[in-house]
Parts: sequence; C-alpha cells; structure tokens
Amino acid sequence: MSPSATPGAAGELRGAGLRVTAARVALLETVRHGDHLGIEAITLAVRDRVGHISLQAVYEALHALTAAGLIRRIEPAGGAPRFEGRVGDNHHHVVCQSCGVVADVDCAVGEAPCLTASDDHGFSIHEAEVVYWGLCPACSTARSS
Ligand SMILES: [Zn+2]
Ligand SMILES: [Zn+2]
Repeated sequence: MSPSATPGAAGELRGAGLRVTAARVALLETVRHGDHLGIEAITLAVRDRVGHISLQAVYEALHALTAAGLIRRIEPAGGAPRFEGRVGDNHHHVVCQSCGVVADVDCAVGEAPCLTASDDHGFSIHEAEVVYWGLCPACSTARSS
C-alpha cells in the first residue's frame, strides 16, 4: 500500500507516537468506517486489505490504538467487546438485547453532563457511559408480529 493513499490514518498513528504499519492503518480505517465492530469483523476486514494477520496481532494493534485514544473500546455487559472511531465525546450506547446491535446515543443534555456524578467518591472522573438496553426496531417488529 502506498502511504499517500491513506495520509489521514497514517498521520494520526504517527502523531500518536505509534509505529505506522499497513495493518494498523487498515485497522484504524476499518474501525472508523465500521459501526461498533467486534473483533472477528475487524479481523476479517483487515485481512481483506493486508493479507494474513494473526488474531494476536489484531488484539495487540487494537490495544495500542485504544491506549493511544484513536479508537474506543466498548464492552456491553455480557457482550463481546466492540470498537469504534468516535472518541472523546463521552457519548452513550443503546444495545439490542436480542440481536446485539449497537447504536450511538448522544448525551441527553449539554456537554457530557454525566461526568458530574452525584457522589464521585473522591475519584477524578474522566469518562462516564450509560448503556441503554432494549430491542432494536427490527427485533421489536419481529416479536410483535
Ligand atoms: Zn435487535
Ligand atoms: Zn459509539
């Protein structure tokens, strides 16, 4: 892959102090363009672009990119981890209890209001996440018909 094909992702990796590899560029773009993808879906998409990459290498790259703040890991209770490219805005998620589909939910009021806990127990809080559980439109339609 020519570096000029993806100046954005490569530049961001470099800016975050990460080594730029074709796999990491593919992974960052896959997560950004995807919609809360799980590890298997990410692995398949990355293999599609750069050829064989081990699951272990995918895990390591996901970890490095998450630690660098380029992607965000979400882990609905009892579900497999998902990754997304929307970072730094403290948004929430709605999760379907039937099929597991995930969608973004903006904070209901103002600027990240959920960061102001009623009792912070002395912690310095930098992120809060609400998970709304329910049924997606497709699943509720399937149940009621
Ligand atoms: Zn559903
Ligand atoms: Zn999200």
